[in-house]
Amino acid sequence: MKNIVLLGAPGSGKGTQAKKIMKKYGLLHISTGDLIRKEIKEGTDFGKMASKIINKGNLLSDEFVVSMIENVIKTNQNNKGFLFDGFPRTKVQAQMLDEMLEKNGDKVSMIMLLKVPYDKLMIRMLKRAKEEGRPDDNENVIKNRFEEYKSKTLPVATYYREQNKCREIDGDREVEEVFKTMEKVLCCID
Ligand code: AMP
Repeated sequence: MKNIVLLGAPGSGKGTQAKKIMKKYGLLHISTGDLIRKEIKEGTDFGKMASKIINKGNLLSDEFVVSMIENVIKTNQNNKGFLFDGFPRTKVQAQMLDEMLEKNGDKVSMIMLLKVPYDKLMIRMLKRAKEEGRPDDNENVIKNRFEEYKSKTLPVATYYREQNKCREIDGDREVEEVFKTMEKVLCCID
């Protein structure tokens, strides 16, 4: 199985690239952000709790997110692999993901870290806020999301770099150019 993690700051293009990768390689796309937004839309107890945290730009607790992912992994064992988008976002989540996959004799194959300068990310995010009306996309919340990313999510890249599983990708280019680079990484993985 190919198990790929897409890592990058908010607005770095993970979702856009994930759709293209899923289409070409048939991996099962798991976006924790999408799963959480679905719960919010459905008005579940979890969704109500999550919306307060998301709308401030903070990360949800590891336990909640990991239990969500655990369910998806358990119920989708027969596929070509998983494409994790927006997960893991903390080192603890990364360690828990490793444990979950190991239970099935599996592992993370590679992570791709999308790099885009923060000033460009802010421009992208404010544009998206207008287009999609996401409540977590206003300037103060975005700044907090970047802080969360720097302090909690960048250590995930270090965690995988130490296992020689991290490829850095320049995300400050046209969508197709970024995808071409990702294809080069993906073609070398069993
Ligand atoms: P995203 O759409 O991936 O940018 O996620 C939107 C928001 O959902 C984030 O700002 C977090 O509040 C929450 N979220 C998504 N994925 C995670 C995760 N792996 N761990 C904690 N919180 C998450």
